[in-house]
Amino acid sequence: MIEQTLVLIKPDGVKRGLIGELISRFERRGLKIVGLKMVQVDPDFSKKHYSNHIKKDFYKGLEKFITSGPVVAVVIEGIDAVEVVRKIVGDTSPKFAPVGTIRGDFAHISLEYSDKKKKAAENLIHASGNKKEAKQEVSLWFSLDELHSYKISYEEHVM
Ligand code: AMP
Repeated sequence: MIEQTLVLIKPDGVKRGLIGELISRFERRGLKIVGLKMVQVDPDFSKKHYSNHIKKDFYKGLEKFITSGPVVAVVIEGIDAVEVVRKIVGDTSPKFAPVGTIRGDFAHISLEYSDKKKKAAENLIHASGNKKEAKQEVSLWFSLDELHSYKISYEEHVM
């Protein structure tokens, strides 16, 4: 029931100065940050992270986008964290992401527009899609000694 999931603040989120704002959205829900680092992704690592997208039409643009500047990688822990984090993030297409979600509050681009421009959708953030992906992605991005174990006050007062 307690799960870990991977979040990436993508280059557009970093360049727009939204690192603190976006991370605070997880903290204020009582989710725990157990791993955090800034990483410059290279094309090889992009292919590992997005291995299920390599054959898709948008992959070339996606690799260009994810390697265009540093990303902030975060491991978030909490009850049903994979599902809860996906809800906080909102739909892949910012156009359809409900207001109140990260993508719904900070972007409006549509996948159709990105496809027309032959670019990846700049949607600020990545969150693991399901529990299996979360396990794979956390271990791809973080070594065990980069993950931390501690108590936050939410655990003391709410859980
Ligand atoms: P996902 O693994 O579903 O998050 O997809 C990876 C990323 O690729 C998304 O977050 C978008 O940045 C981008 N993406 C997904 N689908 C499309 C699409 N149809 N057109 C352009 N970019 C896309």
